[in-house]
Amino acid sequence: MALITITNKTPQEMKRIKLSPNFNASEVMCSKTGNLIIDEDVIKGMENIRLGLLEPMRIVSGYRSFTPNSKHYKGLAVDFGTVHKSKKLKEVLPLALKFFYRVGIYFWPHGHSKTEGHATIHGDLYMRKGRLGWWHTPDNGYNYITNPEQLVEFITGTLWEDLPI
Ligand SMILES: [Zn+2]
Repeated sequence: MALITITNKTPQEMKRIKLSPNFNASEVMCSKTGNLIIDEDVIKGMENIRLGLLEPMRIVSGYRSFTPNSKHYKGLAVDFGTVHKSKKLKEVLPLALKFFYRVGIYFWPHGHSKTEGHATIHGDLYMRKGRLGWWHTPDNGYNYITNPEQLVEFITGTLWEDLPI
């Protein structure tokens, strides 16, 4: 666990800074400031997930300098899906559970349908208070469970497991 810190670079420079074979600094920097603080193990986790899926990954949010209560602010978290929404949630979730300590699923339904829309996953390496899993829907907000592995059971056999991510 070591933090990578990069500041005072142009967006073009950030794009050229490789953090791993498949991820550059621009993809995980703060969208507001362009600065970056990220744990190297978060990048390793994303690289491993990308290699497991053999799909280009979309980083929705990495480091965030403007959300002090989130693990993104500590450089320990990442929200992600695939670039083409070409995988199913049930394919991506096990890899997220393998490489991140705490995992959250965000459901983004179209309207109020469970069958349409997509999912994104939050993974983080915040370890001081034990493991945690959650799912979030726009209608019902956050639902927490202490063992994130149970997220697999939660989605299995439901319409959610096949949601594109
Ligand atoms: Zn997140």
